[in-house]
Amino acid sequence: MTRTERHRYDVVVIGAGGAGLRAAIEARLAGRKTAIISKSLFGKAHTVMAEGGAAAALGNVNSRDNWMVHFRDTMRGGKFLNNFRMAELHAKEAPDRIWELETYGALFDRTRDGRISQRNFGGHEYPRLAHVGDRTGLEMIRTLQQKIVSLQQEDFREFGDYDARLRVFAETTITELMLDGDRIAGAFGYYRESGEFVLFEAPAVVLATGGVGKSYKVTSNSWEYTGDGHALALRAGANLINMEFLQFHPTGMVWPPSVKGILVTESVRGDGGVLKNSDGKRFMFEYVPDVFRKQYAETEEEADRWYDDPDNNRRPPELLPRDEVARAINTEVKEGRGTPAGGVYLDVSTRMPAETIRKRLPSMYHQFKELADVDITAQPMEVGPTCHYVMGGVEVDPDTAAALGGVRGLFAAGEVSGGMHGSNRLGGNSLSDLLVFGKRAGEHAAFHASGGERPRVSAEALEAAVATALGPLERTGGDNPYHLQQELQAIMGDLVGIIRREAELSEALKRLHELRARVATVGATGGRRYNPGWHLALDLRNMLVVSECTARAALERAESRGGHTREDFPAMDPAWRQVNLVCALDGDDVTLTRKPLPRMRPELLRLFDRGEMSKYLTDEELAEFDALPE
Ligand code: FAD
Repeated sequence: MTRTERHRYDVVVIGAGGAGLRAAIEARLAGRKTAIISKSLFGKAHTVMAEGGAAAALGNVNSRDNWMVHFRDTMRGGKFLNNFRMAELHAKEAPDRIWELETYGALFDRTRDGRISQRNFGGHEYPRLAHVGDRTGLEMIRTLQQKIVSLQQEDFREFGDYDARLRVFAETTITELMLDGDRIAGAFGYYRESGEFVLFEAPAVVLATGGVGKSYKVTSNSWEYTGDGHALALRAGANLINMEFLQFHPTGMVWPPSVKGILVTESVRGDGGVLKNSDGKRFMFEYVPDVFRKQYAETEEEADRWYDDPDNNRRPPELLPRDEVARAINTEVKEGRGTPAGGVYLDVSTRMPAETIRKRLPSMYHQFKELADVDITAQPMEVGPTCHYVMGGVEVDPDTAAALGGVRGLFAAGEVSGGMHGSNRLGGNSLSDLLVFGKRAGEHAAFHASGGERPRVSAEALEAAVATALGPLERTGGDNPYHLQQELQAIMGDLVGIIRREAELSEALKRLHELRARVATVGATGGRRYNPGWHLALDLRNMLVVSECTARAALERAESRGGHTREDFPAMDPAWRQVNLVCALDGDDVTLTRKPLPRMRPELLRLFDRGEMSKYLTDEELAEFDALPE
């Protein structure tokens, strides 16, 4: 039997981004022995890359803001497909979670009178994003790590061991969740450097593994984001929902090719940047959909006045939700009004003094200077859509973050979970989401782990996990994992991309099916010591199953909504608003079922006016809306 190192914990948190760290802090504060596992270096996660800020209705810059307005914006952004209870908890609890970060040592940018400053972002009615320049995620991770170190120091004082109740396992990839019947019993994986195997026995596991972007070639996501948590959940018997909804961020770099996809933060537009086509036209005015008509300016003059006087003017259309802006850019380029590199222009150079740009957008300034030799204080950037965020994910109970679908002891928070953002996420809502639900997941995982008989990992299950992990190294003649990844990315980018069609989605499913057999026999040369080819071979089966969920759901949903655009069904259909598409696994096969969306409570429905709701609800739902008590 291959040697496997064993550890015993109460709570195992997979992922060391914001959601994972916040969950681990909560589990440790509840007294549970907690492990944090991270595929990459500790401190390197998407959270650290977040630039714009964290949305929370603190009301510091506009006192009209409150949780109800934030809730409304979030539901509108998600085109009312959000799990309303998650959106409600998020809007109510985000301000406390931001404040709490300051008690851990974070320091957000300030208003003149010393309160946490907040900036404008697409889809948010008021300035709402707490930020630290354009390096908010860095401050967040730094602070959460600092809190972890302080808890470890406490444990050292009490037990003489820093790791007594909270230990970080960096550069460790989890490949399987272990089960005892329908209960979580732990997690199995390997140390990336040595290739040695490791088993964490635990009655509660929190998935906080982030997104799936690496299934696409043009993406803002980095190498770790292969949908591992989504796939682990599926294989353990949990469900995924909303997997057809992927966010293509409108502004990724398009030049040079080596950095294509790298994000250009939305704060560039929030702070006054404008989008222009190759004719020099500020084209977003042409793309304001009817549902947003009332909130967005119709002339450049009004849009520009809004920055100084938001109470008496409507917002610039550059600040429409991301899906709208991404589709508009896509159309401009397709119709021949794009830039030489295939994007559009994003200009701050004519809108702000150079010094202000360098102060407010320091990372963007350096990013363009170093990667593209473009000085954004003097010339426009070239930008285009890039695969950025997955709204779909593990179906969870909103209050406890427990995974639904029949497996006990599994929790999910952050980007890997689904429901909160509906069909489209507003910028800034992810950083607050992962704090709110990271805390809840940690708290409930700790509670779950606090009593009862511990589950057992059987020798057979462990042997099977080892055999699967060794598979690519023991096979000869299998496909090269890098070639397979490129093929997968081509299928997803070409056939399941920003604009979708029935025939292409069917073709994608056929090709994904063919790829499945080749991924099952993928080979990797070399040994177990730091071997990226082997690592990718193991990640591929995750990417494949998650991509199949996305393609299946995208084919099934015969409407366009948020991050899912069907050229053959261009309108939103109220009947589809009532439906979540649920992916599960039956053996190796992906199954897809329709499930009714939870119904919003009357007092929350009352936050919207009838005119607006008539664009989203079925006639039957509208009749119920009319009958609501005042
Ligand atoms: P992540 O921070 O992505 O962390 C995932 C963790 O899981 C990592 O530690 C990873 O190593 C680990 N992991 C993955 N698989 C495994 C495995 N198999 N085994 C062990 N560990 C594993 N959102 C905002 O709200 N505001 C912004 O301004 C903003 N800007 C962004 C800018 C960029 C460039 C990007 C890419 C995203 C941005 N987002 C922003 C989105 C936001 O950053 C992410 O959605 C969010 O950080 C996800 O946090 P998380 O904790 O769920 O996961």
